[in-house]
Amino acid sequence: MEKTLFEKIADKEIPAEIVYEDDQCVAFRDVNPQAPTHVLVIPREPIPSLESLAETNAPLLGHLWMVIRDVARQEGIAQGGYRVVVNCGQDGGQTVDHLHFHVLGGRPLQWPPG
Ligand code: 5GP
Repeated sequence: MEKTLFEKIADKEIPAEIVYEDDQCVAFRDVNPQAPTHVLVIPREPIPSLESLAETNAPLLGHLWMVIRDVARQEGIAQGGYRVVVNCGQDGGQTVDHLHFHVLGGRPLQWPPG
C-alpha cells in the first residue's frame, strides 16, 4: 500500500524539521504554522484517523499524550499554555489521512475555532 505523506516524513523520505522521535511516534514542525509553535505528533503506525482507532491502540494513545506534554515543555510553551487539536474527517477539516495531533502555542489562541 502507498505510504501516507506523514509515513514518508517519519521514514525521512520527505524532509521535515523533526523535534522528537522514538519507536512509536514522531513530532515535526507543521509546514504551514498557525502559531509561533505548531508541531504535529503522529504515530509511526499509519492509523488513518481518530475514527479508525481500535481498543488495542489505547497504550499507544497514552504514550502520544505523554509525548505531546514533553514536546510542549521542550518547545517552551507549557508554562504559557497551548492547545492540542485533532481534526477528524471531512467536516473536522482533516486533510492528511494519518492520525496527527496539532500542538499549537506561543500566542493567545482564540476560541471557538471556525
Ligand atoms: P489536518 O488539516 O489534516 O488536520 O492537518 C494537516 C497538517 O499537515 C496541516 O496543518 C498542514 O500544514 C500540514 N502539512 C501538510 N503537508 C505537510 C508537509 O509536507 N510537511 C509538513 N511538515 N506539514 C505538512
